[in-house]
Amino acid sequence: MTTDRAAAPITVIGARENNLRDVSLRIPKGRLTVFTGVSGSGKSSLVFDTIAAESQRRLNELFPAFVRNRMPLRERTSADAVDNLTAAVVVDQRPLSGNSRSTVGTATEVHPVLRVLFSRLGEPSAGPASAYSFNDPQGMCPECDGLGRATRVDTARLLDEDRSLNQGAIRFPAMAVGTPSWQLYAESGLFDPDKPLRDFTAEERELLLHGKGFRVKRASRRGVYQNEYEGVVEAITRRYLRRDLDSMGARTREAVERVAVGGICPACGGTRLNEAARASTVAGRTITELAALEITDLVAELQGIAEGLGTRPHERAARPVIATALAVLRRVADVGLGYLSLDRATTTLSGGEAQRLKTVRYLGSGLTGLTYVFDEPSAGLHPRDVHRLGRLLLELRDQGNTVLLVEHDRSLIALADHVVDMGPGAGTRGGRVVFEGPVDRLRRAGTLTARRLTEPRRLKPAVRTPTGALTVRGADLHNLRGITVEIPTGVLTAVTGVAGSGKSSLVTGALPAQHPGVVVVDQSAVGASARATPGSYVDVLDTVRGLFAAAHGVRPGLFSFNSAGACPTCRGRGTVRTDLAFLEPVTAVCEECGGGRFRPDVLELRLAGRSIADVLAMTADEAAEFFTDPAVLRGVGTLREAGLGYLALGQPLSTLSGGELQRLKLAQRMREGAAVYVLDEPTTGLHPADVDALLELLDRIVDRGGTAVVAEHDLGVVRNADWVIDIGPEAGRRGGTVVFEGTPAALAPAPGSVTGEYLRRELA
Ligand code: ADP
Ligand code: ADP
Ligand code: ZN
Ligand code: ZN
Repeated sequence: MTTDRAAAPITVIGARENNLRDVSLRIPKGRLTVFTGVSGSGKSSLVFDTIAAESQRRLNELFPAFVRNRMPLRERTSADAVDNLTAAVVVDQRPLSGNSRSTVGTATEVHPVLRVLFSRLGEPSAGPASAYSFNDPQGMCPECDGLGRATRVDTARLLDEDRSLNQGAIRFPAMAVGTPSWQLYAESGLFDPDKPLRDFTAEERELLLHGKGFRVKRASRRGVYQNEYEGVVEAITRRYLRRDLDSMGARTREAVERVAVGGICPACGGTRLNEAARASTVAGRTITELAALEITDLVAELQGIAEGLGTRPHERAARPVIATALAVLRRVADVGLGYLSLDRATTTLSGGEAQRLKTVRYLGSGLTGLTYVFDEPSAGLHPRDVHRLGRLLLELRDQGNTVLLVEHDRSLIALADHVVDMGPGAGTRGGRVVFEGPVDRLRRAGTLTARRLTEPRRLKPAVRTPTGALTVRGADLHNLRGITVEIPTGVLTAVTGVAGSGKSSLVTGALPAQHPGVVVVDQSAVGASARATPGSYVDVLDTVRGLFAAAHGVRPGLFSFNSAGACPTCRGRGTVRTDLAFLEPVTAVCEECGGGRFRPDVLELRLAGRSIADVLAMTADEAAEFFTDPAVLRGVGTLREAGLGYLALGQPLSTLSGGELQRLKLAQRMREGAAVYVLDEPTTGLHPADVDALLELLDRIVDRGGTAVVAEHDLGVVRNADWVIDIGPEAGRRGGTVVFEGTPAALAPAPGSVTGEYLRRELA
């Protein structure tokens, strides 16, 4: 009986999470199942919010009430039944750990293994084994007490480059708009308070962040004040980072943690070790030097050390230690991360890199009978590395696990034992299973995904002619080897190469550094408040409030989330958040307004029969039919142009996918008429049909005289580019040069380009 259930398929009946329309299905155990469908079709709602969430909720129920009360509340998933579950492990693209001290070495647990190795073989020996331990006073660096790090402010997290000081560019509560600290910057006359930060000159930026040692005058309604000036970073460092975090209130601590990252301790270089331990070498290398090597080089180094070992007891004892390290390191290289080093901080890894490192950990765990759930594991990978990753996923399955992937990549779909295709469209137009079965049947199923899988691959018929070029000279960021590259203007350029070859360093680092005015559009959150929505982002909601106000002779503010018209309990959020010490906060629908966000009397004021809550629930497409006001139509047009006509005007931006946010930002920036747009791996998270929507948007930029540059591994984008710059030949130290420049047609037969080779295969 038990064995029957263990083998029985996972059964979902009547799932209704988010946009799911009463979805029922069975998922075979011990198999690789891929979930496909356009973005917004409901894949995550099914796989993460229903199956994985239900599994984790039931695991939580096993804990005694005492422990449970201290865990995040998980609401029952909206499904009639979910049966035959096994324990689920979610391998997502979130950063590896909230811990700013984590490195690739600690995350893979290879660094502790190296320390054991040094305790056995290090010369001169620093003492007994504890002398290599940063947890022991004998081994620890006296400067950082063995922490290896000093905390500093991360300006990327602190600042919203798209905003001006007046718009709240400084994302730190104690410096929010209107606070005395903010006045020091915005009202001192030193800066234009309406200029977005990305337009600041280098001097202005330095002054804003690090200026000090002089006084500023500031005129206010209550008189003229003299203040000692102190840059934003300096002030936060002095007031918060130099103090014990535990002495602060929970809110302050949370705010500080949001903008702080651990930097490496200057004394020990992050090794956490004291001088004696640092000076000790194995085969002529210190532990710090080994940790700084690229992993592929470290593998070779460790093999060399193993070969040189004799038969003395301490040498024999070192053998299994090296074998342990090598087994993990080879797996890391297998998932395409051989260009990383052990000392690399995990906070600097991309989402895809973090996910692949987690995969390595699970592969090594040897656990069986689990359900592993992956969120687009191919993200950021060159087609070559996707093949290797596919082999690892099959290995995980063959260890006796159920593997579920949300994935768009053709070669991973081709590996599936079972495919669940969601659709047919996105949002309210999706939420159904349109196909389930083996891949070869999917190819004949006639769904959008099926058509994508079977359509012939070809180059676009004609490429456009550049209008000029931007020259990037002597670029040497990260692994770039002082390269000079001409980036043509007035066309779409694809910058290609294996992961770690230097694409991002070139297009999001060197290019904007040498050509300010270049706009980098990424998939990160817009840094907006919890109340931001698509409607507010494209400036539609203000106009809508004006229309409601004019119709009823009341103030427009009444219809705003942060006014007296908002529900007093949730203050217009529609949800209430409860903070729990040490745990993720819990969010629940507001009991007062039932999620309606406004006071009942405000909801009675109607515009052509609709309340403000009704308008917020309208999709952009619906709003385009309902409204005639030109300002509203313009904003709504932006949403539709971005292919987001299905989004509700009032849906929180925090619920949008990375790809959706990226298109939204891109469409909005296009209105401003900036000339050069850079996108780093824009197809991450996108179904091929969404890739088409993105390409259309990029084509529109170019057709209007703009320039688009994308760092991409997706061959569909490469085939549609006018120009290709291939970086490589390999990753890290073995990359960083220009391997090819030319049209896609010329790339395919180009010798020495891995990208060319895969393009050739695809066109064959
Ligand atoms: P996919 O994974 O296929 O991209 P999702 O399951 O993330 O799709 O989303 C399906 C639909 O549900 C989309 O219209 C999305 O905007 C909506 N959605 C997702 N999460 C939420 C949420 N927390 N609140 C409201 N709507 C959501
Ligand atoms: P790609 O975009 O082609 O994947 P990247 O430009 O991200 O490549 O990386 C190129 C090289 O630079 C790699 O060796 C990578 O490890 C290194 N690198 C990238 N970002 C950082 C960083 N923040 N700190 C240190 N090294 C980095
Ligand atoms: Zn130190
Ligand atoms: Zn409320």
